Amino acid sequence: MTDLTLHQAQDALRQRKVSSVELTEAFLQRLISIEPKITAYITVLPDVARRQAQEADRRLAQGDRAPLLGIPLAIKDVLCTQGIQTTCGSRILQGFVPPYDATVVAKLKAEGAILLGKTNTDEFAMGSSTENSAYFVTHNPWDLTRVPGGSSGGSAAAVAARTAIAALGTDTGGSVRQPASYCGIVGIKPTYGRVSRYGLVAFASSLDQVGCLTQDVRDAAILLRAIAGYDRRDSTSVNLPVPDYEQVLGQPIKGLRIGVPREYFVAGMQPEVERAVRAALAECEKLGATLQELSLPHTEYALAAYYLIAPAEASANLARYDGIKYGYSYPQGQDMWDSYRRTRQYGFGAEVKRRIMLGTYALSAGYYDAYYLKAQKVRTLIKNDFDKAFQMCDVLMAPTTPTVAFRIGEKVDDPLQMYLSDVLTLSLNLAGLCGMSIPCGFAQGLPIGLQLIGRTFDEETILRVAHAYEQATEWHRQRPVLKA
Ligand code: GLN
Repeated sequence: MTDLTLHQAQDALRQRKVSSVELTEAFLQRLISIEPKITAYITVLPDVARRQAQEADRRLAQGDRAPLLGIPLAIKDVLCTQGIQTTCGSRILQGFVPPYDATVVAKLKAEGAILLGKTNTDEFAMGSSTENSAYFVTHNPWDLTRVPGGSSGGSAAAVAARTAIAALGTDTGGSVRQPASYCGIVGIKPTYGRVSRYGLVAFASSLDQVGCLTQDVRDAAILLRAIAGYDRRDSTSVNLPVPDYEQVLGQPIKGLRIGVPREYFVAGMQPEVERAVRAALAECEKLGATLQELSLPHTEYALAAYYLIAPAEASANLARYDGIKYGYSYPQGQDMWDSYRRTRQYGFGAEVKRRIMLGTYALSAGYYDAYYLKAQKVRTLIKNDFDKAFQMCDVLMAPTTPTVAFRIGEKVDDPLQMYLSDVLTLSLNLAGLCGMSIPCGFAQGLPIGLQLIGRTFDEETILRVAHAYEQATEWHRQRPVLKA
């Protein structure tokens, strides 16, 4: 039962071949046997899940056909869940129990989805490996000595290990696509504004977006439709109708123009990654698409711009953690200032402190123009590059990451090396576009990801192309072997 995709489980539940209680129980059993090896979850919720499954079975019996009804899912621990601890992978939020649900969580609940638990993440989603979690590292199901990627590494590992049917993650600079790539699954980052950020604990507000981690493209289409849409509680969510994304799956891609950005085949990338992505491009050509090499000339400045803008926004967003309202509070401060200082000293980890310092520096008087403002100008240039590219083509294709998953511990002492693992994903966030990663091969037994980049609010095209490629290949059927 735990091998079912979301759409297979949906069929099985609707045909009453399996009940939600049985399905949920199968996942809770698998969690007991597999989860100790993977450690993808910060919080597992057997009681909540069982209660929701019973309710789902009642609704199913009445003929309710809500798409996610009875489906066991996992949620990244940066999304607020009412009455359930939400840590953001940080000590400073240990014990924080939100009084409300994030809009995306409320939407899943309304459809009758089952909440299996909250997944591990780099602290406040700052990182690329889950090694920055204050709690523990998550292991890649394909090779337990390797990272699952990050920051949504817990969600990606849970889906790859089949300890959840699908999961929600967040993507500020690649945190859905990069772990999807490392874990051999599908990850979609919707256009900025497509999905409400209400109740998503803010990292970099102009970049953050909730995304989906799933076993195949159809699952991604189903889950995205469920969470997308305008929300009056998030002023940056856009009031556009949400298409039925499943409808575009199966439409041919003949005549579609695929742009191949030269700058995304970077020096130092793993040769097997380049080979697999070139082979995927050739496959799309066979399906009738046309390939066009093109240039996104400002790509080389994206990393620098991102690591000024994201920390600048983070430094402001994280100012609220002073030990008064949420989570951890240093108990023996000599006065108010001492309490603030020590709460933050002990509550935040090294990477978060590094970002706060970088961001505060970039925003400070005298440096603001040279760093923050300059980075914003670069951001516009990057957006313009994409606008020009999309005049010539319908979708862009590139690798998701320059290498396959690296070893646990390999990059922790070198922040710049860690930042470089997102060099191919973060431009999209700067430009606000939508993007996906889907499996396209293996190198030394580790999955390789193909990245698809779409126009703003054109998730339909990337899903359609991804689906056409997926159906022509077998990569999405490969699964890691995990023994209890
Ligand atoms: N790895 C990038 C960072 O550390 C992106 C993280 C994310 O998308 N949340 O900022």
